[in-house]
Amino acid sequence: MAEKIAFLDLKKQYLSIKDEIDAAIQAVLDETTFIGGKFVQTFEKSFADYQHSLFCIGVGNGTDALEIALEALALPPHSEIIVPANSFIATSEAVTRTGHRVVFCDCGEDYLLHPETVLTKITPHTRAIILVHLYGQPCDLTAFQKLAQTYHLKLIEDCAQAHGALYAGQPVGTTGHLSTFSFYPGKNLGAYGDGGAILTQDPALAERCRMLANHGRLEKYNHQFEGRNSRLDSLQSSILTVKLKHLEKWIQRRNEIAYYYQKALQPLVEKGLIGLPSVPPTQRHAYHLFVIRTTKRDALQAYLKQHHIETGIHYPIALPDLAAYNYLSFKLHEFPNARRFAQEILSLPMGEHLTEAAAKTVIQTIFQFFAERTS
Ligand SMILES: *Cc1c(COP(=O)(O)O)cnc(C)c1O
Repeated sequence: MAEKIAFLDLKKQYLSIKDEIDAAIQAVLDETTFIGGKFVQTFEKSFADYQHSLFCIGVGNGTDALEIALEALALPPHSEIIVPANSFIATSEAVTRTGHRVVFCDCGEDYLLHPETVLTKITPHTRAIILVHLYGQPCDLTAFQKLAQTYHLKLIEDCAQAHGALYAGQPVGTTGHLSTFSFYPGKNLGAYGDGGAILTQDPALAERCRMLANHGRLEKYNHQFEGRNSRLDSLQSSILTVKLKHLEKWIQRRNEIAYYYQKALQPLVEKGLIGLPSVPPTQRHAYHLFVIRTTKRDALQAYLKQHHIETGIHYPIALPDLAAYNYLSFKLHEFPNARRFAQEILSLPMGEHLTEAAAKTVIQTIFQFFAERTS
């Protein structure tokens, strides 16, 4: 039996940096500072530097990061907040959980929000937009910054899939008033448990986020308001500090694989059998996911599985179609792209764990599938 080609291989990654990781964990055990303290501070500082950001606040996970970021903005209750119709539910969930109204907006051919479509969703009650750099591809930040300024809207960047993505040479996450990250193990920069962070360039927002995440206080027992408990702990911080040193190399490797996939799949694109997103040359996609599109998605996924190739679907149901949003009673003609793409998208194996031979096998098997179907 041929060896399985994994979608993600955290074991292989751990083994490649085992000595450093083991030492980082041991260092925390030796100090027994499990919450707060130098390991967390060191990571916050190095992540802020990597992302070219002034402030970094470590929190419990990427979902908390979104909620705390929204709370920090102190928007009037029931504000309308525009979010993409294609994302992970955390993006829209944070809006409802902080007392606001979810306004879904359809995506473009590149799976991202675009200012022209977002514009049609703006009402006098709109207060913010949450951009998602989905799959690791940056949204058009310059255009959105202009839109936000024109309509006096707050901009949040959900960067949960975009560690290492560059927009015009700059890391994403510094254009919005706040940006949020997840360190869920499978993300481009993943912890060995839950973790998240908020970035901002605004000292007042940074302080508010820190207080919201720490029971409304900056110092022990001096609670200015009610917050919550959401922490990035020392073990995760120590692990993340090690992994951050390797991130650049890993993102470059993801880009090499993506480049190979793109070139190799070109004949199928020309025949109209599969669709690939185009990435403007001024941007660096972080390739958290490499997503292709085909009307034969389910059959192709089953075929790849038969050939021991793991794939994923991100995400199989557009957010407006989730039972959680039945109460919004959407019409069938709304969100045509997000809904169609949910039927057609397929995420191929991607990550620094992939060997050249494995990437080649993925491509050959896709060609084989289409050859068998069209002959
Ligand atoms: C993973 C993810 C989140 C949530 O992060 P958690 O750490 O799992 O809470 C939010 N938004 C997007 C786009 C994500 O992919």
